[in-house]
Amino acid sequence: MMEQSKKKELGHLVIIGSGPVGMTAALILKKHFKHVTLLERQSKNNFLKKYGFTFPIVFSPASIDILKKIGAWDAIMAERSEFFGVVLHKRILGMDIALKSYEEGVYSHWRNHIISCLYERIVEEKIEIHFNARVKDIDFQRSVCQEETLGDLSFDLLLGTDGINSQTRKLLAKAHPTYSEEDFSLTHLDNWYAYRLPAEGGMGEKFGGGNKFYASNVYVDNLAEFPAEKFRVVTTSMKQPMEEISVLVKYGPSLELNRVMQLNEIFFGKYVNSQQELERGWETGYAGKFEQVHAPTFTLNNVLLLGDSAHGFESTGDLINFGLASVASFYQLFTKNESLDKTLKEYDETIGESLRFYAQFSLRRSMEKIGFEIAAIEFFAKLGLMKRHPSLFGIFADDFEIQNYIGSYKRNLRISKLLAIVLALSLIFLVGIILFN
Ligand SMILES: Cc1cc2nc3c(=O)[nH]c(=O)nc-3n(C[C@H](O)[C@H](O)[C@H](O)COP(=O)(O)OP(=O)(O)OC[C@H]3O[C@@H](n4cnc5c(N)ncnc54)[C@H](O)[C@@H]3O)c2cc1C
Repeated sequence: MMEQSKKKELGHLVIIGSGPVGMTAALILKKHFKHVTLLERQSKNNFLKKYGFTFPIVFSPASIDILKKIGAWDAIMAERSEFFGVVLHKRILGMDIALKSYEEGVYSHWRNHIISCLYERIVEEKIEIHFNARVKDIDFQRSVCQEETLGDLSFDLLLGTDGINSQTRKLLAKAHPTYSEEDFSLTHLDNWYAYRLPAEGGMGEKFGGGNKFYASNVYVDNLAEFPAEKFRVVTTSMKQPMEEISVLVKYGPSLELNRVMQLNEIFFGKYVNSQQELERGWETGYAGKFEQVHAPTFTLNNVLLLGDSAHGFESTGDLINFGLASVASFYQLFTKNESLDKTLKEYDETIGESLRFYAQFSLRRSMEKIGFEIAAIEFFAKLGLMKRHPSLFGIFADDFEIQNYIGSYKRNLRISKLLAIVLALSLIFLVGIILFN
C-alpha cells in the first residue's frame, strides 16, 4: 500500500543521475509531482550493461521496505546469491589468520541486476529518462536546470544523485553563499582495479563457497614478499547468474598499474587454470579510485544531494544501502512536513548530520584506523552489552534507520571506550591482588 501524502501536488522534479538512488527517488516521489525528469549522462546501452564485476550488496530492512513500496523488490529478489559474510585473511607475526563474520539468511545482490529491475519499473511508470544528458548549469536562485538538448528545465525540487564525482555537488559548491568550493572536496584514498574470473578449478576451490555460493574474502597484507607495497585483494564469489569470482585489487596511489598486474599474477597465478585465462580476465576489467566526499551541507535552496554524491564511495557495499536508506528517510520527512523548505532543512540537520558522521567513519575505516572501535564493539556485542558496528552486519537490525543507527553507534563508541578502561583497570587490580598475596 502506497502512503497518502498530505502535500499538494508539486510541479517538476528533476533528478540528475539515474543510478539506484536516482531511480528509487523518482519512483517513490512520482505521485507527488506533475512531472518527473531523470537526466542520465550515459548512453542507454552502457547504462543497461547486464553483468559486470560485483561486490556484495546487502539491503537493510529500511532499504527493502522502500524497494517494496516502489514495486521493485520481487524482481530484485528473483536473482540473488546466498551470502554469509566476510572472511578476513590477515598475516600476524608471520602466521595466516582467517577471521570469519557470519550472518545467516542474508542475500547478496549485484548492481547491474538492481539497475535493470529499477529501470523496468521506470519504463512501466512512464517516467521520462533522458540518456546522454549534458547538464550545462543550475540556477539555484531561479530553480532552473539547463540541459544541452532539453534547454531550461524549471524545477520545484532537484535531486543530485550523480554519484561520487557529482556535477551537481560542484555546481552547488560554486553557488553556495556560506561554504567555499574547497569545503566540498574529495580525498583520494586508494586506487582499484576490478575484473572477473571463472569459478573453476583452483579458483573455485580457494575462493568459492562450496555447495552454497556466497563468500567474500578480503586479503590484507597478502604478499609477504613485498610488504612495502600496498596491495590488497578482495574476492567475491557470486552467482550473477553464473558462478564466478569478482576480483577487486585495492592498491596505494604510489603503485603503477603495470606493477599491480605483476603482483596480481603472483597472487592468482597458482589458482587459475591458465595464464591466458588470467590475462583475458584482466584485460576486460577496469580501474577506478576510492574517494571520500567532504560536503558540509547537502542542500541549497531547492536542491538536495543524495547517495554517493552526498557521502562518498568506499568498497564495503554499505553505500548502495545507505543511499537507498537516505531516500527512505527523505521520503519520511517529505510526507510528514507541509513544506518542501522545512523538509530539506530538517533532512540536512538530522539525516545529513548522521551521514556526515558516517562519511568520517568510512574514512577512518579506509585508513585502517577503526581496529580498536570495531574490536571493542564486537567484543561487548558478544557479551550482549551492545549492538554491532555500522558495517555490513550492523545494518540488519529490524529498526535500522540512518539516524537512530548512527546515534546508537556513537553511544556504543563512548560506552565501549569506558568499558575497555574499566576492564583494563579491573585486570590491573586483579593482577595486583594476585602479586601481593
Ligand atoms: C560501475 C559501478 C559498479 C559498482 N559496483 C558495486 C558493487 O558491486 N557493490 C556495491 O556495493 N557498490 C557498487 N558500486 C557502488 C554503488 O553502486 C554505489 O554506492 C551506489 O550505486 C550509489 O548509488 P548512486 O545512485 O548514489 O550513485 P551511482 O550508482 O554512481 O549512480 C550515479 C549515476 O549518475 C550518472 N551521472 C554521473 N554524472 C552525471 C551527470 N553529470 N549528469 C547526469 N548523470 C550523471 C552516472 O552515469 C550513474 O548512472 C558500483 C558503482 C559503480 C559506478
